[in-house]
Amino acid sequence: MHVDHVGGLLADGLRRRLRPDVPIHLAAAEAEFWASPDFSRNSFPPRMPDVLRSAAGRFLDLYRSQLRLFEAESEVAPGVVVCRTGGHTPGHSVVCLASGGDRLMFLGDAVFPDHFDRPDWYNAFDHDPEEAVRVRIRLLRELAATREPLVAAHLSFPSLGRVAVAGNVFRFVPAEWEY
Ligand SMILES: [Zn+2]
Repeated sequence: MHVDHVGGLLADGLRRRLRPDVPIHLAAAEAEFWASPDFSRNSFPPRMPDVLRSAAGRFLDLYRSQLRLFEAESEVAPGVVVCRTGGHTPGHSVVCLASGGDRLMFLGDAVFPDHFDRPDWYNAFDHDPEEAVRVRIRLLRELAATREPLVAAHLSFPSLGRVAVAGNVFRFVPAEWEY
């Protein structure tokens, strides 16, 4: 529920264009955390805590009746399974898509560009830094083993690719972009 992910749903006019009953799937741990957030493990610049708290609070107020909370995982539509990983935030989740024989994993904020070289690095927005590192390494290992494609919120264009292993670091192998 960081502002760069829920902020779009707070933009003026957007909500009126959504179906009023559109369900929003959210890990229960995320809703619980943001009701009273603890930033003691983050090192944010001065105004950041207020920005995060206020965006998350507005999101919960506006969309509470549409939230469909899940604990560990939930199939939100046929072939679309959301799984809580925690780490980055308590309810951070990844989404696994399956269609025919194809697979794609949306990693959210579990991985940023630096993390292929340094999966042990964490940033100010990782609320549980050690757990975020464990989650990241587990997901990168899994994707390197299965060769399944991934997409993530903060990777460079085209954001879609696969994971390779080079010695004890990972490599992002971007997908060919077809126009
Ligand atoms: Zn985030």
